[in-house]
Amino acid sequence: MGFSMRLDSFNIVLKELKSQYKIYAPKLLKGKGTFSDTDMARYGEIDCIEEIEFDKKSYFSPKEVILPLTQTLFYFTEYEIIEPKVDGKGILIFLRSCDIHAVKRLDEIYLRNGQEDPYYKRLREKVKFILMECENSFENCFCVSMNTNETDNYSLFVKKQDEKILVQCKDETLKEYFQNENIARVSPKFVENNETKVNIPKGLDISIFKSEIWKEYSARCIACGRCNTVCGTCACFTMQDIFYKDNKNVGERRRVWASCQIDGFTTMAGGHEFRKNKGERMRFKVMHKVYDYKKRFGYHMCVGCGRCDDACPEYISFSNCVNKLNDETKEVR
Ligand code: SF4
Ligand code: SF4
Repeated sequence: MGFSMRLDSFNIVLKELKSQYKIYAPKLLKGKGTFSDTDMARYGEIDCIEEIEFDKKSYFSPKEVILPLTQTLFYFTEYEIIEPKVDGKGILIFLRSCDIHAVKRLDEIYLRNGQEDPYYKRLREKVKFILMECENSFENCFCVSMNTNETDNYSLFVKKQDEKILVQCKDETLKEYFQNENIARVSPKFVENNETKVNIPKGLDISIFKSEIWKEYSARCIACGRCNTVCGTCACFTMQDIFYKDNKNVGERRRVWASCQIDGFTTMAGGHEFRKNKGERMRFKVMHKVYDYKKRFGYHMCVGCGRCDDACPEYISFSNCVNKLNDETKEVR
């Protein structure tokens, strides 16, 4: 069912929804981009439609809403452990098709890969998706190559068109919020073409581990980990125990995003490290995204959002690397 409404009417609906839900969307942060005179789109809570940045790709993915960068799992004293209270409100997230597909990847890792992760589950269960349209493909996106350019997995679709807001509602529990609005025919359009195209080699196997192509990345990568932090499908974390200054026996345990590209990720007791040079780390990341995850779950982990290419300070391109693998595999045959 679809509706056409004025901006101010939609803001009234948002206000009503906010009594039941926290609402997150990409917002423009002025002067917070790579340089002091550049802006950054990043997820945050919103109160009105004017706060939503529809025209830019967000730097971080919406992952940071469901899997926070740093999350307190419990507080401890000498005698007890207390879990933080969970907010009773639901969560609505404005996000694009590729990012909805990325959440499916996180669900596989945190909910269907052996044991369910309770910290992820209790946030994830509260989430409903609000689809945002991509009018055109953004720079570095290759969602079409990864089959993530389309989705029907959303509760609402919201489109800003001049002074109107068009809404498609697929969720019975949300329909009541729009009952006084004009009915309209609304459905999303999806990107059908990206400038960047990626060909994942069909017969990719571990013989590519020995390829010379990885050496280039040992020279270029500075192990900053940005490519992991912006990725909506990177799911690794590490644990930190924080001890409070006024009583060293009291503190909290947090989990914090981790990066397979940075020093120390594979360091074990005794100082042994599995992937010392950066080419090996790049190989690990790329093969995880387009090879071994698929062996376990039947489809590729990477959703083609292009954020790793957007964020890399050394202009290392993930999509380019996968295409090089394709060329290399053809040469070997
Ligand atoms: S590997 Fe790069 S393109 Fe693929 S999902 Fe992660 S950030 Fe997006
Ligand atoms: S963002 Fe670029 S330089 Fe930084 S770790 Fe990733 S590939 Fe290396």
